[in-house]
Amino acid sequence: MTEARIIDGKAFAAGLRARIAEDVAKLKALHRVQPGLAVVLVGEDPASQIYVKSKGEQTKAAGMHSEEHRLPPDASQDEIVALVKKLNADKNIHGILVQLPLPGGMDPSPVIAAIDPDKDVDGLTVISAGRLASGLPGLAPCTPSGCMMMIKDVLGDLRGKTAVVVGRSNLMGKPMAQLLLQADCTVTIAHSRTQDLPGVCRQADILVAAVGRPEMVRGDWIKPGAVVIDVGINRLAPTEEGGKGKIVGDVAFEEAKAVAGAITPVPGGVGPMTIACLLDNTLIAARRQAGLD
Ligand code: NDP
Repeated sequence: MTEARIIDGKAFAAGLRARIAEDVAKLKALHRVQPGLAVVLVGEDPASQIYVKSKGEQTKAAGMHSEEHRLPPDASQDEIVALVKKLNADKNIHGILVQLPLPGGMDPSPVIAAIDPDKDVDGLTVISAGRLASGLPGLAPCTPSGCMMMIKDVLGDLRGKTAVVVGRSNLMGKPMAQLLLQADCTVTIAHSRTQDLPGVCRQADILVAAVGRPEMVRGDWIKPGAVVIDVGINRLAPTEEGGKGKIVGDVAFEEAKAVAGAITPVPGGVGPMTIACLLDNTLIAARRQAGLD
């Protein structure tokens, strides 16, 4: 049997960003609308600072307006909500993203709930989840949207395919399942209480792993020829020589690629699609707010 096609998320994301940049240029030229994304960063978490910087750079590179709003680590929930409400009312801002986690273990729910669902480019509000589940126009979370684009690119028509999503988080597993259902797949959502998980996974024409457990999905869990999307980002323990631990996904890649038809690597698969889909959501939000879609 031939080895799986490796889905190059970096190249795919670059193509998507180029398409978005063209659409942004047209939107500006034809309708005088420049999509604007505001990112709110509370505190000084180093990883969050890197993500926010990268989001800002990619937003500008696509020709969009980018704003970064920083609040100190001791900002109160009321202060964060007040900032979100100000951005809701700002006509130059079409998308709002609050970088998570919030410092000090603060519950993000009231902050997320304050985001205007039409500007909810992370797709995290309850209204966005409800729109997605009801098949209404809305904004879906970025990572599952990126996975969906790659699956469609590989398979084309998804009608009638059997899809298994391992993981049921609000951020990933549930919206992924909704998107696959919308594409007329027969969808199973598996989780930590699923019985015979390997047997359930072996049914899948499309297998999405969003668990957070290094290399949990083995080669013999995969139906020959299946499309395998590995969302997991897991850092292994540092090496004895003092090197940083390697990043691996939720799928045992070497085993899986001998069986699957196509597979995303980690890193370089799903990861790069997330910010590209954030830009895509910002463009969608801007077009809708301008009354164009
Ligand atoms: P969560 O921890 O919120 O959810 C994990 C899910 O996996 C839960 O539904 C849990 O089940 C299920 N699970 C845990 N253990 C098992 C098991 N042994 N068997 C079957 N199911 C299990 O994680 P997220 O959804 O937020 O993220 C999942 C992974 O994806 C992480 O590695 C994360 O880093 C990565 N990620 C990557 C992104 C990217 O840009 N590439 C973006 C978002 C996430 P239960 O509900 O029963 O507890």
